[in-house]
Amino acid sequence: MTTHDLINPATGAAFGSVEHVDAAAVDDAVGRAQAAQRRWVRSAPAARASALRDFAAAVDAHVDELAALEVSNAGHPVSAAEWEAGHVRDVLQFYAASPERLSGQQIPVAGGLDVTFHEPLGVVGIITPWNFPMPIAAWGFAPALAAGNAVLIKPAEWTPLTTIRLAELAVHAGLDPDLLQVLPGPGAEVGERLVTHPGVAKVVFTGSTVTGTRVLAAAAPGVKRVTLELGGKSANIVFADCDLEQAAATAPYGVFDNAGQDCCARSRILVQASVYDRFMELLEPAVAGVVVGDPASRDTEMGPLVSRPHWEKVASYVPDDAPVAFRGRAPDGPGFWFPPTVLTPARDDRCVTEEIFGPVVTVLPFEDEADAVALANDTVYGLSGSIWTDDLSRALRMSRAVEAGNLSVNSHSSVRFNTPFGGFKQSGLGRELGPDAPLAFTDTKNVFIAVKEK
Ligand code: NDP
Repeated sequence: MTTHDLINPATGAAFGSVEHVDAAAVDDAVGRAQAAQRRWVRSAPAARASALRDFAAAVDAHVDELAALEVSNAGHPVSAAEWEAGHVRDVLQFYAASPERLSGQQIPVAGGLDVTFHEPLGVVGIITPWNFPMPIAAWGFAPALAAGNAVLIKPAEWTPLTTIRLAELAVHAGLDPDLLQVLPGPGAEVGERLVTHPGVAKVVFTGSTVTGTRVLAAAAPGVKRVTLELGGKSANIVFADCDLEQAAATAPYGVFDNAGQDCCARSRILVQASVYDRFMELLEPAVAGVVVGDPASRDTEMGPLVSRPHWEKVASYVPDDAPVAFRGRAPDGPGFWFPPTVLTPARDDRCVTEEIFGPVVTVLPFEDEADAVALANDTVYGLSGSIWTDDLSRALRMSRAVEAGNLSVNSHSSVRFNTPFGGFKQSGLGRELGPDAPLAFTDTKNVFIAVKEK
């Protein structure tokens, strides 16, 4: 085992450390998870439902503690971190109903009885990123456990603390300690071993498209089930016929939430040319009003970036000669602070085409609906987006034309646990959340039972 220092992004100072496991520990964890899964799936559906409700209750009782960990470890504003911990509780409660509801079909056939069963896959590996450690872990482990699987999670190296604590709370609530295990360590060693281990039946990966394609290739020889939630470069499309004040006032929250470290960030604002100047006049004070500062303060709306290397990546998109329209305020260092930044670049600039994953947004004018669709879809990504218009027919036309898995009209809403979430194109493969999520952690078995004629 090696020890890895943890850095507080708001101060740049080390505040703790975590023990990393190695590939051999993954092998050991898979064996124990397989045994725990067999015990779990043999228990009564009502007992599994009750265990997940108890887990939800344990999370609920520790929302403040979990939030405080995320403030220190990821720099999330405390109000956002509390919402994230509460979201884990809600996701667990939602999927706690599934063990007693996951039923197959009886299919009419000649000569007997035909039924289907949704069999759990066995052991599921979940690899999470550093931007939303708690929600993204729960989107995987809650439906996977509900469907009768055991789960191994490899959290991002920078932000493992809340995932470790959630697994402790599961044990505290009465779950078998081997049913939900956390394996902190480097992606290249621990993550890869999880993906290639023959005892892991499915991998759920959230992170960059580059690493996602590596995971997909590594999973292929074992014909593993894979769900990928990858990057985004989502459009916020503002038509002249919308409530322009509302569109401008909310645009910062559509992109600067979590300091822009959000795969659903609406990082390309597209504005109809006839209202472009007025929109920019309205956007400037809205951006200036974003409260950036101490994540522990309840007034804070935006914290620091997660790490020094990530700060450097984001800063590379805003060189001295960048087309900056205006910027908000941010504290000076130490800490990985970056001000909300609005750019007005050319259509083919790399800040328009590449995922920045920071508080940087581009604004481009468009002429008409066809131009808006062409611009919105001119990306390898297809995760999210917003359409602002008061014309219902236009809203529906645009909703069908924009290539993305999750769109909102006159809103920046992205993720609700009871609706499906996932990407088109290179933003991902498969869907998470929604009522059918547990099915993605099962294989369907068909059984025909011949009935003798008398
Ligand atoms: P990665 O995709 O590299 O990391 C995500 C997770 O995958 C981490 O837990 C990481 O571990 C793990 N991992 C890394 N390599 C492997 C591997 N070979 N096999 C299995 N698991 C692996 O993202 P980064 O943290 O490097 O971020 C880079 C960029 O990705 C960001 O700037 C952003 O653009 C994008 N991103 C997108 C996210 C999204 O939600 N769509 C989330 C995070 C990042 P480890 O922590 O050890 O590297």
